[in-house]
Amino acid sequence: MIKLNENYGNLKDSYLFFNIKQKVDKYVAGHPGMKIYRMGIGDVTLPLAWCVIDALSNAVADQAQKGTFHGYMPECGMPELREIIAAFYNGRGVELTPGDVFVSSGASDELGDILDLFDSSGSSIIMEPAYPAYVDANIIAGRRIFHVTGNEANGFAPVPDNDTPVGDLIYICSPNNPTGAVFSKDALRKWVDFANLHGSIILFDAAYEAFIESPSVPHSIFEIEGARTCAIEICSLSKTAGFTGTRLGYTVIPGELKRGGLCLNDMWVRNRTTKTNGVSYVLQKGGLAVFSDEGRREIMENIRIYKQNARYLTDALDRLGVTYYGGRNAPYIFMKCPEGYTSWESFDLLLNEIQVVGTPGQGFGDAGEGFIRFSTFASPEDTKEAALRIFDLLTRMKG
Ligand code: PLP
Repeated sequence: MIKLNENYGNLKDSYLFFNIKQKVDKYVAGHPGMKIYRMGIGDVTLPLAWCVIDALSNAVADQAQKGTFHGYMPECGMPELREIIAAFYNGRGVELTPGDVFVSSGASDELGDILDLFDSSGSSIIMEPAYPAYVDANIIAGRRIFHVTGNEANGFAPVPDNDTPVGDLIYICSPNNPTGAVFSKDALRKWVDFANLHGSIILFDAAYEAFIESPSVPHSIFEIEGARTCAIEICSLSKTAGFTGTRLGYTVIPGELKRGGLCLNDMWVRNRTTKTNGVSYVLQKGGLAVFSDEGRREIMENIRIYKQNARYLTDALDRLGVTYYGGRNAPYIFMKCPEGYTSWESFDLLLNEIQVVGTPGQGFGDAGEGFIRFSTFASPEDTKEAALRIFDLLTRMKG
């Protein structure tokens, strides 16, 4: 009898977005025509940059001609794209070679697949509240999980101490989804030292690096001395360049990263050449445009719009004196729930009273209880109105 992966039975049902949808659908059915302000979504809404559209269109046209047609692409990525990504890091003072960079179909795929490099009897440190895929990918792989709690006392950026369990893998997401918190250079140095001391490997999720505006906040784990011997960075163009529906990302595995005499970069080359036939030519041409000067200018303009959205919300919360995290270096604002309300009760309150939809913090693990996440990806008009409504509601509740 075939034996299936019984770890699937250990997954908790993910009710978060299902429950949100059900509640919103029920509200809409009971209030036909009522406008809903959707601040819960983690998906981008602005279109791709024009120069990316041009590059994609030209690449499609290439596929129509014998002389320019491309078949299978190199499994680890088009050399020009690996080069331009390495140059992008070099420009920020991080030395990488094109061989350290692997082009991917996005961060989610990589966060799951990368576990192929590690024995399933191993353990992972996951800082909560967390992006739910970290926990689920580890459960599916049958790995042990140690939870490290992010909270107000550590500003949702916990650092290792004498009680920190030693896990083989350490997940760090900065800027963080859902809290919007960022890890300082000093905090990351503590994790790099911890990882090098214990032989652990950091999986650094940099999906939101393009939103960092504070000059002292690292964009990459490789800005930290010692990271090349203990870290893998997973990044995505989803939020940076609006590629959520287009799909492109990259993973950095420095050649020096070795354990037990094995080089993880070599292992990943072997993995990719076995498990993929490369990312499509058309998408990689779009990716090249993202890293061009014009592309950088255009994508930063979209990010500026999302950042202005963040300001509408944070200005309202600042005026009210409400505690929140994020919003400055991340497209998420993690707001403390009104006194006496759980995160789901806050969700219901906002939906029923002011038609604003957030994401209850509890959906990101118990450490998220007491908070509600707002994203800054909705339209400026909706975000401005949602900020006004939140301000009015919380003012009324205070008074
Ligand atoms: N990592 C984090 C922290 C995310 O929030 C997301 C998407 O929301 C991803 C990774 C997935 O990115 P991608 O669209 O590249 O799969």
